[in-house]
Amino acid sequence: MAATPAPPDDPAQPARQPQPAVVARVEPGSIGEELGFQPGDRLIRINGVAPRDLIDLQVLQGEEELTLEVEDPDGTLHRVELEKDPDQGLGLAFTEALFDGLRQCNNHCPFCFIDQQPPGHRASLYLKDDDYRLSFLYGSYLTLTNLTAADWQRIEDQRLSPLFVSVHATDPELRSRLLVNPRAALLPDQLVWFAQRRLQIHAQVVVCPGLNDGEALERTLRDLAAHGAGEWPAVLSTAVVPVGLTRFRPPGDGLRPVELADAAAVIARVEPLQKEFQRAIGSRFAWLSDEWYLIAGQPLPPRATYEDLPQRENGVGSIRGFLEELEVATRRLPGRVEPPRRMSWLVGRVVAGALAPVVERLNRIEGLELILHGLPSPYWGQDQVVTGLLTGADLLEGVAGRELGDTLLLPRVMLRDGEDVFLDDMRLDAVRGALPVPVRLIGGAADLVAACLGSPLEDA
Ligand code: SF4
Repeated sequence: MAATPAPPDDPAQPARQPQPAVVARVEPGSIGEELGFQPGDRLIRINGVAPRDLIDLQVLQGEEELTLEVEDPDGTLHRVELEKDPDQGLGLAFTEALFDGLRQCNNHCPFCFIDQQPPGHRASLYLKDDDYRLSFLYGSYLTLTNLTAADWQRIEDQRLSPLFVSVHATDPELRSRLLVNPRAALLPDQLVWFAQRRLQIHAQVVVCPGLNDGEALERTLRDLAAHGAGEWPAVLSTAVVPVGLTRFRPPGDGLRPVELADAAAVIARVEPLQKEFQRAIGSRFAWLSDEWYLIAGQPLPPRATYEDLPQRENGVGSIRGFLEELEVATRRLPGRVEPPRRMSWLVGRVVAGALAPVVERLNRIEGLELILHGLPSPYWGQDQVVTGLLTGADLLEGVAGRELGDTLLLPRVMLRDGEDVFLDDMRLDAVRGALPVPVRLIGGAADLVAACLGSPLEDA
């Protein structure tokens, strides 16, 4: 069995003492409520162990008999003993997922999106997380380059699977070059390590034209697919996404944006491989994000080719999935709406073409006029931008002088997760205040249709 594939511990990643877990919310009717927990309480130890993160908490809560050490907001310490069913949780939500700090990235990828942001924003926006716990909990991608031997052991002991791994290239020398980190060369051994322990990953490859496309991309996908066979594949799926470059990137980074010809070449290289993988391992295994097809001006593949959409969060098949949901949501449309209404819908310019047929279909309803605006992003310096990257400034600049109708439909994906803030830190309230029409947030196909039909579903 392969030894733990970690070089000696990186002194930049010292072990940190866990801080108490601060309660954010107490679920009504839960054990936590019964015990008198309040937001602001600090859970210090469970059965004598200080949890490092939500994963530890989950494991520790699984015991039948618990001794909780808690400090309330005025500093009083409490010791609470209880018995419960092993599958019963405490019903507590916490302010953070990690209690011993975020594992930061030790790579220097020239295409790093964090480094391509303008200066002057909140410090948290410049944090480069590369934390296997967040990957397990929320599906964020990590590179495996900062793991210590103890981390590998923990992944094995707690069965932290699947993880989501940014591969970029399987060739050790090329991967080290792309991540600017000699530790990146360990990936092939790490894949074997996962396979031997029946632990699994989803992979992603960010393609930089001229660096890891062409032959290198083919080798990467073949190497990954070699771990994609059998009842218990170590690599479950691979997303191939184009590099995103902004106008804030440092000069002389050796990168260039993906052009139409690059996108067409990547599609031409990957689609035959998908067929080959389908025959060999029973899955297409490697999927291209929607952007490739949109940039190349080619139709999106049929829904069935995405299987169970394993990489939808990564933009693979997300538009196809949206169109499918829309198909369902528009199955029984009324012939007309009363009173008549005109609405505008904002999306990123690169997706506007794919959504135009939807707009056409909705506009067949008498009394409804839906106007689609596909906006570029002057903020990032991207003309062909996806909706999720449009900023508040892009929105205001993009809609100036355009017909907005009575209401502006704004995809929620333009806001930071869980916040009413755009990627440029502009607040939703400020944008609402600057627009001549009300804004309605839409989360998906059903929301869009409800808004068009005048249903008072949801707004924000
Ligand atoms: S691993 Fe991710 S966060 Fe770290 S430098 Fe590379 S792109 Fe940036």
